Amino acid sequence: MRGLYIHIPFCETKCPYCSFYSYIEKDKTVIERYFDTLITEIKTYNNLSFDTIYIGGGTPSSVNPNILDTFFNSLFKLIKYNGEEFTIEVNPNSFTKKFIDVIDRYNINRISMGVQSFDNNVLKLLGRNHKATDIFKSLELIDLDKYRLNLDMIYDIPTVEDNIIFDTLESIVKVNPSHISAYSYQHEDTGYLANNINLDKTLFSDIENKLRENGYEKYEVSNFSKKRMESKHNMIYWNMNEYIGIGSSASSMYHTDNKIRIRHTNTADIEKYINGIETSDKVFDDYEELDIEKQISESLIFGLRLKNGIDLSEVERKYTTTIPERFLKNIDILTSKGLLTCQKKKLIATERGAEVLDTLSLYLL
Ligand code: SF4
Repeated sequence: MRGLYIHIPFCETKCPYCSFYSYIEKDKTVIERYFDTLITEIKTYNNLSFDTIYIGGGTPSSVNPNILDTFFNSLFKLIKYNGEEFTIEVNPNSFTKKFIDVIDRYNINRISMGVQSFDNNVLKLLGRNHKATDIFKSLELIDLDKYRLNLDMIYDIPTVEDNIIFDTLESIVKVNPSHISAYSYQHEDTGYLANNINLDKTLFSDIENKLRENGYEKYEVSNFSKKRMESKHNMIYWNMNEYIGIGSSASSMYHTDNKIRIRHTNTADIEKYINGIETSDKVFDDYEELDIEKQISESLIFGLRLKNGIDLSEVERKYTTTIPERFLKNIDILTSKGLLTCQKKKLIATERGAEVLDTLSLYLL
């Protein structure tokens, strides 16, 4: 599987908790120039065959549908899409009939909507620019027989009672999306997460139970889906398969001939991004070459995010080498401490291990 990620950094307003690279841009010329640059950038890659496409942001639905139409038209003259999964992120406030008419023309089969909450007070607290009625109105536009739907929600928000979070969960389940992403609130400005180490760990497992009762299985740290409705594009990241990312702040990871993997991240600065691509001098915020050992390390770390863990035999097959001794030694230590289980070479984080994944990762670097 091979994925294409396209980053659209524009939003109508900036939510105070947001740590994504997103900007409010009112100048249509800048937006059009950005989309022209995306087309110039995709031409810099050799292999333009993709199984999945994911358009994220930012808020792709905040862009004028005519601009998107022109962009898709040019894009599909250049790339080959094998039809596995094509997702676009939308927000309730900017999701219109005209927008859906455009995405209908380009085989998009998955919509990911940033709902976050069905409670108007919570939406206000989060600084979102939509209300619950906007969510209902936009959901009416989506034909669930045609589109797979993901709804994003936020839990663990300071001052918000659990019953309000569960009301949102209830409303989400009633919509019957194929996929739900549940994220813990983070507010970098208040340092909430840094200061509050007594987070209610039972809240997430209550959410997990409620979703399981309704046919959603947790398959990754924050992601739940109906059977076989996992996000194929995100699985590409977690399975360490190849992806090309175009746009400001987008990352790519691909092989070179000699098995070294390159991973780089475009600059997040829109102006620098555009100028760099226009002058054939790409600006990266990050560039690294991953040798086999580093690739194995990351395969283990990402694999442990998945509910089904990672098959060590498959890792060995994929990289045509055995798992380095130092990783096996640490896996044994973590297993003896009850943080991992390893049976028939299938490595899975236990419930306790899943709570400290970041720490576990340090043993697998
Ligand atoms: S809409 Fe999404 S990307 Fe835009 S500012 Fe809010 S959280 Fe960030």
